[in-house]
Amino acid sequence: GSPDGSPADSSARNDPYDRPVAELLARMTDDEKLGQLQQLAWAGATGPGGTQTQQAEEAARAGLLGSVLNIHGAKESNALQRIAVEESRLGIPLIFGLDIIHGFWTTFPIPLAQAASFDPAVSELDASVSAAEARSNGVHWTFAPMMDVTSEPRWGRIAESGGEDPYLNGVLAAAKVRGYQGGDLRAKDRIAACAKHYVAYGGAEGGRDYNTVDVSEARLRNHYLPPFKVAVDAQVATVMAAFNTISGVPAHGNEHTLTRILKQDWGFDGFVVSDWTGVQELVPHGFAADGADAARLAVNAGVDMEMVSTHVADHGRKLLSEGRIDAARLDDAVTRVLRVKFRLGLFDDPYVPEAAEIPGPTARARSAARTAAARSMVLLRNEGGALPLAKTVRSVAVVGPFADSDDLQGTWAGPGAEKFRSVTVLNGVRAALPDAEVTHAPGIDPAGEDTGTLPAAVAAARAADVTVVVVGESPAISGEGNSRSDIGLPGRQEELIAAIAATGRPYVVVLVNGRPLALGDWADDAPAVLEAWHPGMEAGNAVADVLFGDVDPGGRLPASFPRTVGQIPVNYNHERTGRPYNPADPDQRYVSRYLDVADGPRYPFGHGLSYTTFTLTEPSLSRNSIAAGALRRGDTVEVAVTVRNTGEREGDEVVQLYLHDPVASIVQPVRRLRGFRRVTLAAGESTTVRFGLGADDLGFWTNDPDGRFVVEEGTVDIIVGTSSTATAKDTLTIS
Ligand code: BGC
Repeated sequence: GSPDGSPADSSARNDPYDRPVAELLARMTDDEKLGQLQQLAWAGATGPGGTQTQQAEEAARAGLLGSVLNIHGAKESNALQRIAVEESRLGIPLIFGLDIIHGFWTTFPIPLAQAASFDPAVSELDASVSAAEARSNGVHWTFAPMMDVTSEPRWGRIAESGGEDPYLNGVLAAAKVRGYQGGDLRAKDRIAACAKHYVAYGGAEGGRDYNTVDVSEARLRNHYLPPFKVAVDAQVATVMAAFNTISGVPAHGNEHTLTRILKQDWGFDGFVVSDWTGVQELVPHGFAADGADAARLAVNAGVDMEMVSTHVADHGRKLLSEGRIDAARLDDAVTRVLRVKFRLGLFDDPYVPEAAEIPGPTARARSAARTAAARSMVLLRNEGGALPLAKTVRSVAVVGPFADSDDLQGTWAGPGAEKFRSVTVLNGVRAALPDAEVTHAPGIDPAGEDTGTLPAAVAAARAADVTVVVVGESPAISGEGNSRSDIGLPGRQEELIAAIAATGRPYVVVLVNGRPLALGDWADDAPAVLEAWHPGMEAGNAVADVLFGDVDPGGRLPASFPRTVGQIPVNYNHERTGRPYNPADPDQRYVSRYLDVADGPRYPFGHGLSYTTFTLTEPSLSRNSIAAGALRRGDTVEVAVTVRNTGEREGDEVVQLYLHDPVASIVQPVRRLRGFRRVTLAAGESTTVRFGLGADDLGFWTNDPDGRFVVEEGTVDIIVGTSSTATAKDTLTIS
C-alpha cells in the first residue's frame, strides 16, 4: 500500500476466505469491482439520478453496488438483497450498514455516559443487545463504536465518544467490538463493527465540528491512535475515515494514517469506509481539484468504500486506464470488502428470516438498559447526605424542563427512539413511590424559556418534602454538527434553580445532558447534583434507582467539567509547562491560571461520589525497579491496592491508576490513566485490585514519522486513587 497504488498486504492473516475471495475477484469486471466500493443511502439522500433508493435498486441489479446504508427491517432488506443476489450477474450480496450507536430498539445511555460507568460490561451488553436486534432486522454492520478522544465539551459529538482519555476510550472500544461482533460474524445475532472516526476527529479546533486538526506525530500516536489500535487488535471488521484534516492532509486522503499505519503497521485486513460524502469533500477541503481527483486521492490513500458520493464508481474506469489508480490497489480494496462479506456469512445466507425479526425491546433488554443507565450516573456533589432520598418521603415535587420529558434517549438514537420513548423522570419517581404525592410543574421549557409555570414550580417546592429539579440540554443540541460556544445550562434554567433554592426547602438537582457543562456557581450551593447524562429509554426508572438509593452511584467523569467556557481545554492529561503558576501544585495537576477564574475544572476527570465511603491503601509494587530490556521482552510490574468500604451500605468505587513520567525526551502528560477497576463492596468489605504494567503502559511514541515507541530509563510515578487528582504514589525505576 503506497500512494502509487501498490497493494497493502491484505492477506497477512492467511485468511480462510482468501481462496473464495480470489476466485470471485478473478471473475469480476472492472465495473463490478468498482461497484463493490460504492455504498448508497436508502433514504434521505438525493443524487443526480433522483433518490438513492431508486439508484440503489438499479445498481444492485446491474451488479454495480457493494453496500447500502440506512435500510432496516427484514422484509425491506431481504427484498433489496434479493435483487443483488438473484438478478445480478455474479449474485454478490450487499452489506447493509446503519448507525447503531447506543441501541437499535432498546436505547441505552449515550456512549459518553457508558464511559462514565467505567464498566466495560455496560458497553459490551449494549452492543450485544443492539447486534441481536439489528441483525434480525436485516442490518449487518454498524457505524460504531466511535473512539474519538476529545478535550472539547463544546463539540457536540463528545456525546458519542468515550471522553478525554485514550486508555478509557480504548477499553470501551474493545468492549463494544466484542459485543457487536462476538466470536463469529456469521451468527444471526452479531454484526460487523466500525471503528470511527479515523483519526483525531475529536481534536477539532475550537470544538467546531469538522474543523482543522494540526497534530504532532507524537500526539497523534500517543493520544488519538491508541483506541483504534485496540479496536484493530480486537478484530474490528471495518474503519471509517474522519471528516477533519490531519496536519494539512484530509483524513480521507491520508496515506500515512490509512495505509501506512492502519493497514501496513497494524495489519488491519478489513475495509475502510469513507464518512458520508467524505470523498467528495476532498474538493471543498481544497485538496482535490474535482471529483475524479478526489477519487484518485482517496483510493490511493487507502479508502476502500465510498459512502453516498459516487466519484470512485463514476471515474474509476478512466483513472484505471490512465494509470492513476493501480489495478492492484483496486483488487486490494475489493478483496477487503468481499472478505468482510464472507466473514458475515452473506454468501451462505444473505437473507434474514422474516419470522425471527425482533420487533422491539424485550423485557430483558429493557432491564439491561436500566441497569446501564443507573451505572452511568455520576454523583457530582452531595452535602450532608442529601442523597439518597428516603423512600418514606411523603411528597416530592419533580420540576424543571426535563422533568416530564420522554426525549432523553440522546443523540444518534436508533430506530427505536421514535417508537419507544424514554420513561420520564416524573414517571420514574411515581413508580418508585406509589404511595407518595408526586407533583410537577416544568417552570422553564427545554429551550430554557419561561413557560409561565415558574410560580407553580416554586409553589410545588414549598409544599413538598423534597424537590427534584431536572435541568440540562435537549438531545437536539448535542451530537453531530451541534457545537455550542456557551455550555452553561441553556436559557433561564439557572433562574429556576435559584428560585427553588430560595424556598429554603430541601432539593436536589438532576442533570440530563450530552456533554460536560459549565455549571454556574449554583452547583457549589446545591445540596446534591446528580449527572444522569442522556440515559436512554429507561431514563426515569434509572434516575429513581439512584435517587432513592437502590443503586449506589458508581459512575465517574470521563471528561472534565470546566468552571467556565474560557478554560477549555481543561483536560487532566495536559502537558507540563516551564512556568507553573501555582507553587502549591508542583505536579501541575491543574491547568495554568486565568486572572478571573479559579484553577482547574469544577469537577476533574475520574471524579464521582458514592453513598458510602472507601479507603485505599498506598499502591504496592511487585518490584521497584526493572530493566527497560525486560519490559520490552514482555515482563510486567504488578501494582496492588486494597480498597475497603468503610461506610454503612454496599457501594461502588472505581480504583484508578495513573502514570507520570517526570523526565522524558518528549514532554509527558502530567498524568495519564493506565488502569481502572470498578468494584462493588458490601459495608466493611475490602478487596485487593491488581494492575499489570508493561512496556505498552510505560513507554511512549516519539515524533518519528516511521513510528518509534520507546521505553526510556528513569523513574515513573505510579499514582493510585479515586480521581485524576489522586496523590498516593510510588516510584518505579526503569534502568
Ligand atoms: C457521521 C458518521 C455516520 C455517517 C452515516 C456522518 O455524518 O459523521 O458518524 O456514521 O454520517 O450516517
